[in-house]
Amino acid sequence: MKFYCANHDFKKAKIVLLGVPYDGTSSFKPGSRFAPDAVREASYGIESYSPYLKKDLRDVKICDLDNIPLSFGDKELNFKIIETFIEKIVYSKKQLISIGGEHLISYPIIKSFVKKYKNLTVLHIDAHSDLIESYRGERFSHASVMKRVGEVVGFDNLYQLGIRSMNSTDMLLPKRDTNMHLFDLEKIDEFTERIGKNPVYVSIDLDVLDPSIFSGTGTPEPGGVTYKELLKCILYFGKLNIVGADVVELSPHYDSSGVSSVVAASVMRELLLVV
Ligand code: MN
Ligand code: MN
Repeated sequence: MKFYCANHDFKKAKIVLLGVPYDGTSSFKPGSRFAPDAVREASYGIESYSPYLKKDLRDVKICDLDNIPLSFGDKELNFKIIETFIEKIVYSKKQLISIGGEHLISYPIIKSFVKKYKNLTVLHIDAHSDLIESYRGERFSHASVMKRVGEVVGFDNLYQLGIRSMNSTDMLLPKRDTNMHLFDLEKIDEFTERIGKNPVYVSIDLDVLDPSIFSGTGTPEPGGVTYKELLKCILYFGKLNIVGADVVELSPHYDSSGVSSVVAASVMRELLLVV
């Protein structure tokens, strides 16, 4: 099953959609590897038209490449598979939007983008800073993914929004006092201005949303933003030069109502229409 309206050929497509069903380092509750297919299924329950953006998915050439076939358990091997796969898309000059999977998938994806875009900016939206050095000795974890990403792109080029769960030492990292905005997404206008025309990779960890509207996630964090606040932030993306994006950390089975998958599909629709 493809995402609703994403049935164009790769060659003709403007945007490429890809599932990355990996949840090998989920520290609390695993299950995000089931998200790509749940999002695709939920996409048939919403309209293709966005009244917010006044655009329709039917008018955009999107190619859904299905899920990357990954191995189970071997992280290094999965990194290699993901990097090789993504590199081909990066050099095809198409925009890539990936559906996780847990947040660690952003690391190999961003590494592939950096090979082409040396001055890549990363805009990270999340409840968690994901900046710890390691999680129980594991340096490559969904809880440390932005630490590893910062080491690749430079912490000056990492902008973070919505953070409400962090380590007391996070602020010791470069530019965290100006590039990390806590609790809500209001600094998006300032960040948009500062980023300017630089190539941007956007990483949306859906647990930035409040668990009351998005319970289907492995590490829920109270005190989150509303859907409308996230949407308002996404509307700013139209001003940015976005080369790639991902939407991660939906774990559909923790929300028996299915609402979380619909929320994720709606976020995907707006992303596909705004970039
Ligand atoms: Mn995260
Ligand atoms: Mn998170």
